Amino acid sequence: MIPIGGLRTVGANMTMFEHGEDILIVDGGLEFARGGNSPGFNYLLPDIRFLQPHLKRIKAMFITHGHLDHIGALKNLVPALGFPPLYGAPFTIAMIKKSFEEAGLKNKVQFFTVNPDAGKMANVGVFKYEFFRVNHTIPDSCGVYIETPSARIMHMGDYKLEFFPRIDKPVDLANYSRIASRGIDILLQETTNSYKQDWTTSETKVTGELKQLIQDAPERVIIGNFSTLISRIQDVVTIAEQLGRHVLVNGRSMVDCVAIAREMGILKCKEGTLKPLDSKTMESIPENKQIIITTGAQGEEFGGLNNISRGDHQTISIKPRDTIILSSSIIPGNELAIIDMMNRLNRFGAKIITIKENEVHSGGHGGIAEQRVIMNLVRPKYIIPVHGDITQRLTLKREAVKMGWDPKNVLMLEDGSIVELDERHELIFSRKKIQLEALGVDGMSIGSLETKAVKDRIQLGEEGVLVVNVKEALVESRGLFFPDEISASHGAIADYVKKAVANKKPEEHHKNFCEFLAKDLGKMVLKVWEREPVVVCL
Ligand SMILES: [Zn+2]
Repeated sequence: MIPIGGLRTVGANMTMFEHGEDILIVDGGLEFARGGNSPGFNYLLPDIRFLQPHLKRIKAMFITHGHLDHIGALKNLVPALGFPPLYGAPFTIAMIKKSFEEAGLKNKVQFFTVNPDAGKMANVGVFKYEFFRVNHTIPDSCGVYIETPSARIMHMGDYKLEFFPRIDKPVDLANYSRIASRGIDILLQETTNSYKQDWTTSETKVTGELKQLIQDAPERVIIGNFSTLISRIQDVVTIAEQLGRHVLVNGRSMVDCVAIAREMGILKCKEGTLKPLDSKTMESIPENKQIIITTGAQGEEFGGLNNISRGDHQTISIKPRDTIILSSSIIPGNELAIIDMMNRLNRFGAKIITIKENEVHSGGHGGIAEQRVIMNLVRPKYIIPVHGDITQRLTLKREAVKMGWDPKNVLMLEDGSIVELDERHELIFSRKKIQLEALGVDGMSIGSLETKAVKDRIQLGEEGVLVVNVKEALVESRGLFFPDEISASHGAIADYVKKAVANKKPEEHHKNFCEFLAKDLGKMVLKVWEREPVVVCL
């Protein structure tokens, strides 16, 4: 087994399993680029280049659920992996088909829709497998059991233990127990929420809170939500129907998800409850009968709620009597963007409610309490904490050790680590490792984050650029000097260049001279102005 992505930070989840000649891959997610060390990238991908010589050996890709950190990189990965068949539960396959349709890939891939309630094993290549249902924040989430002649693996996917779900089936611990009774060698245990000690809030509790808040709202209600969180959208639709309001959906990804969920009969809704979000329809519905449900609760740059907060939305502008509910958690890393967005929303004077004030969200990842139940129930020989950074994964390891596991049997891996079991199902933990790089998608290209181009971008962003035409001693800069400094500093640099050209040896090649001059100018700018721009001499 080799984790390909998902162990460095949260996102880009992907794991491969190998037995003999056959390879099986679970998930193919993306990680959102957040500027910092990935400037200009749209998103980051798992590095699958080492698999290129082995494409014919890949029997299938299993997809646990339709969140972007599990399916978002498939558009890039599936063609690069030679179009292996994709297996997943119905809603997951529908989500992948939608994104493949947009990328023009839908007809190139073979899809296999699995029934997570079948309760029996099937085969692909040398692997026996069984998908099983788990509770999470998107319909049809699954874990998967994988068996080879030397290993029995239970991969929980993303999960929580929910006894009162809104649209999914309640957690079936007896089913987990049935699968675990085969004797599990390795449990892949997600750790996204291992900072949380207790159980996740029940979805039913959230329903009650939401209903009360909407009932108390004097006028319009605007709810920020994840586009794939269909259970919450169902809540809003049901509450709207009970209170005689209409629901208007904002944000393309949410409009798409709602359409898929309605078509599949997952989202149940009376005729006329959902209304299109256009100014004519909005004017025709009294404001105290409107609920707008929108994407962008994480402060995403182009998310619906963020557009509204900037006053950039075509049809929605916030009014003082609006009630805005952020029905979502704060994904680590998004804190500042959310605070900025809330500050902008607060300037309009509306009432804002978040999980700090009311229980308006129930997360999709079990806290330590739930992880404890699964470890205790499955009783695997080895535990591999996944879907988290090293701190989240170590938190789970400490918990497992407290519960009696030998620390040696709770494996702290890195992306590219190789875990092998022998025919007696005993661990051979190899010191060998596949060297993987962080790759990112930038427009139409894929590039490594470790290249000079990326270092240059970071330097350009922070320090600006100085460009010099050496022969004519012409100086230009961008982002380096403030307006009142430009004239004097460009003059000083031009003088420096003229002097250097006067001292240039006639036999020195122009290109070499430019390289040396760029380094010299870099030192000069650092000494005089204490700045370190990218310097280009031509
Ligand atoms: Zn998920």
